[in-house]
Amino acid sequence: MDTNSIDQPKITETINFHGHWCPGLAIGIRAAEWALKEMGKSPDEEIVAVVETDMCGVDAIQSLVGCTFGKGNMIHKDYGKNAFTFYRRRDGKAMRLVLRSDIYGNTGPVLEKLHHKMQTEGLNQEEEKLWKETRSNLSKRIMESELTEVFEFKTPENLVPKKARILASLTCASCSEPVMETRTRRLNDQIFCIPCFEKVESR
Ligand SMILES: [Zn+2]
Ligand SMILES: [Zn+2]
Repeated sequence: MDTNSIDQPKITETINFHGHWCPGLAIGIRAAEWALKEMGKSPDEEIVAVVETDMCGVDAIQSLVGCTFGKGNMIHKDYGKNAFTFYRRRDGKAMRLVLRSDIYGNTGPVLEKLHHKMQTEGLNQEEEKLWKETRSNLSKRIMESELTEVFEFKTPENLVPKKARILASLTCASCSEPVMETRTRRLNDQIFCIPCFEKVESR
């Protein structure tokens, strides 16, 4: 592990938070490492993370950087990319970290093949062992590489997202549950929550 890394107790805490050790979490830890070094930790909403995946790595960012869904300073864009953008409100500093595909090295094709077999016929004992070893090697590689070998650093196209606001609630005309105004749908002058709107609309 290189000298700038997050210390071992913090990594252990993050693994416990996530539930297991995996390459995805390692990716998140490295992104968090960059954010902590370049942006600082976020006890309030000072640092905002926009994550383009909802996979393992996001847990490391929540645990280590303090960007969480609950506080509203972690925003999920469902783009299916291993990309993490960090913004600092005070000076508008911003950077988008995109996982480099070559970080997989020769583990990429091996994992792809095994994953396919796992989904179809299942793995035998030997393949199971290879799967675990390859993933463990990949995690190690992600942890031990220079940050510039793990990520491409790009200037984000968008400005820092607006602060989390407390929004007015409206009442759904169908289920009568209160629902955040920005999530309501209108149909024939009535206000619906999204699930009710989808039911009404499909009738
Ligand atoms: Zn995981
Ligand atoms: Zn409803």
